[in-house]
Amino acid sequence: MLSLENLGFGPFFSAQYELLPNSSGLTPARIIADNRGIYRLMGCHAFLGELSGRLRNELHPEQLPTTGDWVAVADDSERAIVHHVFDRKTGLFRKAVGSSGRGQLLAANVDTFLIVSSANQDFNIRRLERYLTAVWDSGARPVLVLSKIDLAENLDIYRQGLEAIAWGVPVVELSAYSGAGLEELLQHLPAGETAALIGSSGVGKSSLLNALASQTIQDAREIRNDGKGRHTTTGRMLSLLPGGQIVIDSPGIRELGLWAGEEALETTFNDISAFAEDCRFRDCLHQGEPGCAVLSAVQRGELGEDRYQSYLKLQAELAALERRRDPTQANNSKRRSKHIAKQVRALNKAGGKRCEH
Ligand code: GDP
Ligand code: ZN
Repeated sequence: MLSLENLGFGPFFSAQYELLPNSSGLTPARIIADNRGIYRLMGCHAFLGELSGRLRNELHPEQLPTTGDWVAVADDSERAIVHHVFDRKTGLFRKAVGSSGRGQLLAANVDTFLIVSSANQDFNIRRLERYLTAVWDSGARPVLVLSKIDLAENLDIYRQGLEAIAWGVPVVELSAYSGAGLEELLQHLPAGETAALIGSSGVGKSSLLNALASQTIQDAREIRNDGKGRHTTTGRMLSLLPGGQIVIDSPGIRELGLWAGEEALETTFNDISAFAEDCRFRDCLHQGEPGCAVLSAVQRGELGEDRYQSYLKLQAELAALERRRDPTQANNSKRRSKHIAKQVRALNKAGGKRCEH
């Protein structure tokens, strides 16, 4: 059975819990995903929740809880209400362009960020530097991970690039395919601590997590694997590794890679931008429009199919990000409450279990 300690609830948080005036009625839980204010929470079981009205009014937007946060909830049968957010150990922010504030909080209480880049043409030192800066600002430790080393004919180029920016940050070269370097990486991840993966789309973050988790992984699905179909509710957002490490892998954290938005798409894929100048339409999305120079480069074999596919993938992620930012898409709270109630009913029907304290 899953305990709060398994999820990273150490002395730093338990001390705060003891001090809560009304702690008897509240239960600690960890946010493992955040979908516009509907939180997926994990305590001794998975459930959904949202902020109390009081917190919604009191908290500055930059303080709103996010993935990785520890909160205290009233364990209601229909939906959990978050009444308290524990002080954070660390906080990763997305810097808003041209704003003086701290930006948007993307991840909380992560001890180690694995900044993943791959040993191929997506390698971008400037971007890695920005990741490093964001991680140092967060208060967490960075580890620079060079992935897909099985692909590289000459690793020295990548090594030199990473060493130039590392300044003492550990660099781990690995391959999720061959398994090389995985043991070394685990040495940087102490038991009971939380790690998270950041890096551009396609660098191999999911594959790495799968490889680390290969044998005895219990992810949020398997923890609750009571044969009653509740697994799908949490997916792979939170994984527990055999060595007792917690890994958070959520779209919100990965999105750090997209903070530069269109600019990132341009600079990472400048080969595609070069072809795109010859597209018939200025706003061509290179998805089958007539006169698309990018597609014809793929057909002629001048542009790799995999390169084209990772461009499309990043483009789709950017579009999703924009939709999420668009206020017209925001749910009104009534619809949201209904949605929560429905999902919680589904959870409970599937064999819900209350936390015993
Ligand atoms: P993510 O977007 O960062 O999560 O990247 P994925 O894990 O989805 O991987 C992107 C692509 O790289 C997939 O086609 C993987 O099969 C491939 N890939 C991942 N890890 C490795 C590796 O260690 N070696 C090789 N050769 N390919 C890999
Ligand atoms: Zn085009």
